[in-house]
Amino acid sequence: ADIAMYAAKHQGRNRFSWFDASMERELQARTELEVSMRRAIPAGEFEPYFEQQIDLTTGRLQGFEVLARWNHPTMGIIAPDRFIPIAEETGMIADLSFSVIRKALTEARDWDPSLIISVNISPTQLRDPWLAQKIVKLLVETSFPANRLEIEITETSLFDNLSLAQSIVGSLKNQGIKIALDDFGTGYSSLSLLQQFPIQCIKIDRAFVNDVVTETATQNIVRTIIAMASAMGADVVAEGIETTEQLAQLTSLECHRAQGYLFSRPVHVDDVPRVVK
Ligand code: C2E
Ligand code: CA
Ligand code: CA
Repeated sequence: ADIAMYAAKHQGRNRFSWFDASMERELQARTELEVSMRRAIPAGEFEPYFEQQIDLTTGRLQGFEVLARWNHPTMGIIAPDRFIPIAEETGMIADLSFSVIRKALTEARDWDPSLIISVNISPTQLRDPWLAQKIVKLLVETSFPANRLEIEITETSLFDNLSLAQSIVGSLKNQGIKIALDDFGTGYSSLSLLQQFPIQCIKIDRAFVNDVVTETATQNIVRTIIAMASAMGADVVAEGIETTEQLAQLTSLECHRAQGYLFSRPVHVDDVPRVVK
């Protein structure tokens, strides 16, 4: 019933959907993936990939966002949209994320010390009252400096459980860890609540970057987000830049940090440019 409901929602809500053979197959595939994930996490099959973040004022590399990939023994590289939702539903997300972050920090520890490493924390993880302590423990275990770590949190997950999120974000900030608001503009942020969070960075969602060249309305929204971030004393990162036109437009809107396939796709640690290592 749940699967049929999701199918109906996926097709645009406000409709019904029968559970059928194709959904049965999907359910089976999902269950197989789930069983396989339980084995794969302790086996270390989840790996960090690194996506460059560029300082647009200097053109220099500023750091990397860490993105999880499943290096499956028979299926090859599997993208996060296949396994993150399952990991969230089954409670495996914390183990999965931490195993990926641990590997990433161990790799990046000895790189150019000016590089910031950004990692993603999912909404489920933000419901763990010990999250900040666990992250600090990970920093100690990997000897990674707190001021080089940035935690990416989506705006929706912040407001899911406001008081807990505030205490977690406060503890992280006190340790010198940076906080970035991911996928900004896609949720329902309350600006008055937002200003209570010590946020160093706002990441403009790819959906806006996609339309920024062709849509005047989108240009105005992006301009407003950049002005708002500046009023909050936060940096702005544009996500998902694919074309030089998008880059030029964002530069003219005074966006100072960016990432996207135009610069580089997320790469395996072996393909991280040698200059940083
Ligand atoms: P996100 O945090 O918004 O990550 C950005 C996504 O956009 C990444 O997809 C990245 O590969 C993709 N991307 C970057 N530049 C471009 C571009 O120019 N064009 C296009 N079309 N896409 C671009 P990816 O790696 O598939 O990750 C998807 C989502 O999965 C992430 O969205 C994040 O929410 C989640 N995720 C990935 N790794 C982790 C993890 O270790 N832990 C948690 N909790 N979530 C993760
Ligand atoms: Ca992110
Ligand atoms: Ca994002």
